[in-house]
Amino acid sequence: GSEDLEMVEELARRVVAAVENARLYHQGQDAVRLRDEFLGIASHELKTPLTPLRLRLQMLQRQTEGALRTGEPLSPERLSEGLDVALRQVRKLADLVDNLLDVSRITAGRMKLELEDVDLAALASELVSRFTPSAVQFGCTLELHAPAAVVGRWDRLRVEQVVTNLLTNALKYGAGRPVVVRVEGVGERARLTVQDHGIGIAEEDLGRIFERFERAVSDRHYGGLGLGLYITRQIVEALGGTVRVSSRPGMGSTFTLELPLGAP
Ligand code: ADP
Repeated sequence: GSEDLEMVEELARRVVAAVENARLYHQGQDAVRLRDEFLGIASHELKTPLTPLRLRLQMLQRQTEGALRTGEPLSPERLSEGLDVALRQVRKLADLVDNLLDVSRITAGRMKLELEDVDLAALASELVSRFTPSAVQFGCTLELHAPAAVVGRWDRLRVEQVVTNLLTNALKYGAGRPVVVRVEGVGERARLTVQDHGIGIAEEDLGRIFERFERAVSDRHYGGLGLGLYITRQIVEALGGTVRVSSRPGMGSTFTLELPLGAP
């Protein structure tokens, strides 16, 4: 009868509410877990450059004091080497803080774009040159195929940041094998791919590496805040483009960036 029907309806409503509560509860738990994990990683990452920075500065301080005491001048080579090491650590810290600031800007919807004509091929070539010394450090080669100019209206610094993120990751996770960058025009879009032959990404992780704080390799060996690809995707989408990845564990990854040539 209708009473039975009402009871069934009521029961169904309760089941739906219970499922919804469980879902929200798990989401909340996930958010808390992610936040706690992130705080741990962030503190660790910020501390890592601080230790060598402090040691270097202390060393320079001791040497300067010694020079003052003995009247024997500090050798410019020693000074220069010490400052180089210290500055490198300061740059690492600044990069980390910049990334954190970018995330809060993006979350608050306050990322501004300054559009101008940019040649993606020239920009890629500049970055490949800039990254060649680090490639040597990683023991790999960095190759560029950009046969023709591909000019679009983009925010130069933001596009540079995106390509820098992809290159940094390709070297970092590239297992010392060759990295290849390609730039081409495809209809009304520019396409840039960064291909490595490194550790690759497990299929179940492909969906979440563009999320905030997500890192597929929890292995501390690689370091990192898990913000680079999140920032990358936000910038690319703000420019009306897309970024995607195809990858096979142990075989390497290819990140493909596409940007419309016209203003977003
Ligand atoms: P991270 O600072 O951890 O490198 P990213 O946001 O740049 O953060 O990348 C997120 C995660 O995606 C990385 O932790 C790594 O697990 C994975 N990843 C990114 N690029 C590559 C790549 N080229 N090869 C393999 N894994 C990658």
